[in-house]
Amino acid sequence: MEEEGEGSGKRVICSILAIDHTDMYYRVCSVCERTLPNPTFLCHSSSSKRLFRILMSVATDTEVLTVICFDRVARLLFGCSADDYFHFAKLHPFSGDSLNQILQGEIFAITLSKPMNANAQHLRVASALPLSSSFQPAIQILRQSYGSSHPLTKH
Ligand SMILES: [Zn+2]
Repeated sequence: MEEEGEGSGKRVICSILAIDHTDMYYRVCSVCERTLPNPTFLCHSSSSKRLFRILMSVATDTEVLTVICFDRVARLLFGCSADDYFHFAKLHPFSGDSLNQILQGEIFAITLSKPMNANAQHLRVASALPLSSSFQPAIQILRQSYGSSHPLTKH
C-alpha cells in the first residue's frame, strides 16, 4: 500500500478507447513475484507466472491519455489471472480484437498516479471502478461468445 502515501492520485471519469492486446504480460518468479529479466532467468525455482501489464488509451472529458494498468486493476477488467487469459488467448487467436470490442466505451472512475519509477513514461491506473451496472469482466463475455459454436442456442 506504499503507493497510497504519495498523495498524487487523480480521480477521473474516463471511457476506454483501446487496449494494446499485443503485449499484455510480464513474467515474475512464482515464489517471490520478482520481475524476471528474461524467460530463462531462474529465481527461487524454475517456475514463473505471468502478471498483467497493459497499455491502454482512455478518454476523459478533456483529453486522451495513454495509461498503464498493472495486475491488480487489470484483473478487475478481465475477471481472471494473466496466465488464464494467456491460455484463453492462445486457443482463440482473434480474441484480442473481441477484447477491444468488449471494453471499448466502458466507462470507469479511475485513479491515476504518477509512476513510481521515474523512467516510466505513463501514468498508472491505481484503481478502476466500472460505472455501468451491467459491466461484466471481459473473460465472462469472451467465454460466452467463444464457449459454444452456437451461442444463440444458449438457454
Ligand atoms: Zn523468487
